Amino acid sequence: MSTPSLLILPGDGIGPEVMAEVRKVIDWFKANRGLELDVSEDIVGGAAYDVHGTPITEETMAKAHEVDAVLLGAVGGPKYDDLDFSVKPERALLRLRKELDLFANLRPAQCFEALTQFSSLKPEVVAGLDIMIVRELTSGVYFGEPRGIITENNERVGINTQRYTESEIERVARASFELARKRNKKLCSMEKANVMESGVLWREVVQKIGDTEYPDVELSHMYADAGAMQLVRWPKQFDVIVTDNLFGDLLSDVAAMLTGSLGMLPSASLGAPRANGRPSAMYEPVHGSAPDIAGQGKANPIACILSFAMALRYSYDRGEDAKRLEDAIEKVLADGLRTGDLLGPKGGTPIGTAEMGDAIVAALASAQ
Ligand code: NAD
Repeated sequence: MSTPSLLILPGDGIGPEVMAEVRKVIDWFKANRGLELDVSEDIVGGAAYDVHGTPITEETMAKAHEVDAVLLGAVGGPKYDDLDFSVKPERALLRLRKELDLFANLRPAQCFEALTQFSSLKPEVVAGLDIMIVRELTSGVYFGEPRGIITENNERVGINTQRYTESEIERVARASFELARKRNKKLCSMEKANVMESGVLWREVVQKIGDTEYPDVELSHMYADAGAMQLVRWPKQFDVIVTDNLFGDLLSDVAAMLTGSLGMLPSASLGAPRANGRPSAMYEPVHGSAPDIAGQGKANPIACILSFAMALRYSYDRGEDAKRLEDAIEKVLADGLRTGDLLGPKGGTPIGTAEMGDAIVAALASAQ
């Protein structure tokens, strides 16, 4: 089998700053854990627009198709706000997601012990929380036809269509069952089968896949509105949640905020397994390019480093190393080291982006 590969796309704003810290982590795993990884790097977003007049070139797209995984920093910034939609930095993200057919968006909500104070919920509700929301990303109401604004009976009507085929539901259900199998073997599927036909089909298909292919995973169903309530009432009842594009958009943001800062949230978007068995994949922090702090060495690199931990687990089959990295982050936080976004009422030792990366590498080394 060929050496596993990674394409790094730092992007704009704080993207390059946080990515530099991921580089340190990759180098540590290469030197100390026998990680073989063919790493290449390219520009994307505003950075690519400045050089090439397009947010992502055909060459970069071709590379993204070839590699096992893409790790993206963030794109965008005020400088590009007035550009035509077709060349806006965010177009690069949409193109990558669409052309790599990344239909399963994984958003973990994991609460590090030292950061429970940042959650809006009580510490006992979130301490030790570790759940995963899988959002269908390439279909549903954001893409369904017909859509648009038409005029009917002398007034305008806005139209969007929720539409799911069986195969679209099947593939995201399978991806979610597979994840649940690697975790605590519990999957909760959320829709609104009480009022939407697409929800009825969603429930039927997920149940069928569960019964026939994953009898070892405990499957439950919940209406998405009830699911939203349960997520803030007692989130630890969940392990993996699978839901459609629209509900997933909302529920994953709710779950993310259970855990505190935007600077801590990773994500993964996965497609179908390729010939080598690995899914097409893109990993990225949830945050944007944070123009307000860019270039100041203040950004928290943990979301991007945790995104790389997800790549270790889901693209490179190195779950043990992913855990090692998450434990190192837990230790650094427990030691009280904090980038500005994590300095709450209980204080801590303020440090910058590079120091946070160095501390995580030191924690990796001390656990060896
Ligand atoms: P943002 O996530 O960039 O920033 C929101 C706030 O959170 C800011 O105050 C920022 O300083 C802070 N923040 C974000 N990441 C942080 C980190 N790692 N460490 C410390 N603080 C952090 O969202 P925004 O301000 O709405 O958007 C800024 C730009 O980023 C826009 O151009 C937007 O289009 C783009 N954006 C890109 C992505 C992406 O690339 N995936 C996602 C969201 C927004």
